[in-house]
Amino acid sequence: DVMIRLRGLSKTYADGTVAVQELDLDVARGELICLVGPSGCGKSTTLKMVNRLIEPTSGTIEIDGRDATRDDPVELRRRIGYVIQQVGLFPHQTIGANVATVPSLLGWDRRRTRKRAEELLHLVGLDPASYADRYPHQLSGGQQQRVGVARALAADPPVLLMDEPFGAVDPVVRGRLQDEFRALQQRLGKTVVLVTHDIDEAVRLGDRVAVLAEGGRLAQYDTPARVLGQP
Ligand code: ADP
Ligand code: ADP
Repeated sequence: DVMIRLRGLSKTYADGTVAVQELDLDVARGELICLVGPSGCGKSTTLKMVNRLIEPTSGTIEIDGRDATRDDPVELRRRIGYVIQQVGLFPHQTIGANVATVPSLLGWDRRRTRKRAEELLHLVGLDPASYADRYPHQLSGGQQQRVGVARALAADPPVLLMDEPFGAVDPVVRGRLQDEFRALQQRLGKTVVLVTHDIDEAVRLGDRVAVLAEGGRLAQYDTPARVLGQP
């Protein structure tokens, strides 16, 4: 049961930079895959194409059997949650308001939005009574990343795209966040594409690991053990 199907996906930027070349990738429903590789190999570009933040030069993107390039952007936001490094939170909005971004955009009424915001904070281990009215700078890096995950889950999208979600978190907290996130992802059955430059993170979290090489070519797509060269 394929949730995300990329075929021949390519991106050449206006200045001629070839970022992604002929990428074929299937992600099964409920699977977490890690996209790993050195800086500049096209990981972020790939995620941004799936999320429609940039248009592919060529190739196709199907999500849950539908051509994603034909979905309108609002509909796509309902189906895809997006998590990036800390910078993603709105600094002048409370944690409650940050988590409520998508429900507000979707026009949910105040009571439903507020209830959802509280549920989401619970889900990621933050007590709403303590945190909902604080501002991002009043939280630790790890707590901010929890808020980022909560916000991405707001409309209960089947798919989460994550770009270095634990990159800015200190190493001690990182391991715990990774494990908690993995458990949450499995419990909720979300399909996840997680970008990282850290091969340890990729093999720790991924059901499968996609290794990208220079020029955005897929070098390997396999289980963590096989990627590590184990039989
Ligand atoms: P990664 O996420 O793996 O670090 P990126 O997808 O950010 O890689 O970038 C892939 C390549 O495309 C790099 O060579 C990068 O410099 C280039 N690139 C990224 N964004 C742009 C852009 N807007 N215009 C031109 N080149 C870009
Ligand atoms: P307002 O509450 O005036 O609509 P805010 O920007 O403070 O504006 O909040 C926007 C949304 O964020 C609220 O409608 C609510 O759903 C959510 N929110 C804000 N504070 C909290 C909170 N303490 N608990 C739960 N949700 C909150």
